[in-house]
Amino acid sequence: MTLVKDLKVNKEHQINLEQSLQEACQDKEFVSLVQSLKLNKKEAMTKTSKLQLVLEERKHCKSCKGFYMCKNECIGHVLEPTILEEKLYFSYKPCSYQRKVLEAQNKKKVVRMKDIDTKDKKQMSIIKWMDDFYEEYDGSKYKKGLYLHGSFGSGKTYLLTALFNELERSKKATIKIAYFPELLRTLKEDFHRFGYLMDELMHVDLLLIDDIGAEKVTEWGRDEILGTILQFRMNEGKITFFTSNLTIEELEEHLSLASGVDKVKARRIIERIKQLTIDKELISENRRD
Ligand code: ADP
Ligand code: MG
Repeated sequence: MTLVKDLKVNKEHQINLEQSLQEACQDKEFVSLVQSLKLNKKEAMTKTSKLQLVLEERKHCKSCKGFYMCKNECIGHVLEPTILEEKLYFSYKPCSYQRKVLEAQNKKKVVRMKDIDTKDKKQMSIIKWMDDFYEEYDGSKYKKGLYLHGSFGSGKTYLLTALFNELERSKKATIKIAYFPELLRTLKEDFHRFGYLMDELMHVDLLLIDDIGAEKVTEWGRDEILGTILQFRMNEGKITFFTSNLTIEELEEHLSLASGVDKVKARRIIERIKQLTIDKELISENRRD
């Protein structure tokens, strides 16, 4: 009985979808959207309402004068379809107003080595180490990065960012500074950027994993993400830096979660970090506003 009922429901569902598609096709813009994406009938049928939403959001944007009158589901963004390997995906792209905001952010002053003030004597040995690193860097030799740990606001991120920017501008290195807790969130939520981001994290010349230990540990974040990136970078001899408020021993504890298996997995990550870096400490006054 249930099977017959299920089949009947399925059939009704199918008819509803067909009807919705037929109705949507009254709209010329809908038809040309489907044509431009080269969708077949089945795809168009299962995605009718989403495609209609794309057109509606585009229409909103046409008459929009700024964020205050944004009518789209995700403010400052517009739903866009894309075809990737013959499959249809939808993602939110920044609108023209949002793009201006992003451009302005990108133009914000880039910290370089010359901007670093040297009034904090506790930073001196790190700055000296960075100077040597900068001089010796030529893009061909493998070098160890730093595992720079210490107190909150002591300048860890600031100093390493200056070094990275300098290497990017003056020595044409490709760099990536990834705030670790945020990175995990993005990888988890933004399916469309996952592949691109992982590729970048594995391949850039210099990677800074900023604030490791501040994230909420999950097996996925530790083994699938961090483990994969570090293993790749170790094998390929890619330069990797870390900042953390935790010492390497504290980080091991943090990554250990609960069970015995996790202890082994945490150990494995710590071994990779030790292979990739030199351990340095920076404990100083908090300079954050
Ligand atoms: P941490 O990453 O260690 O928590 P930050 O790198 O964020 O700390 O440093 C806090 C702030 O201190 C930075 O935003 C920066 O403005 C300032 N700062 C730290 N060191 C220097 C320095 N040598 N020259 C100029 N500003 C610095
Ligand atoms: Mg920091």
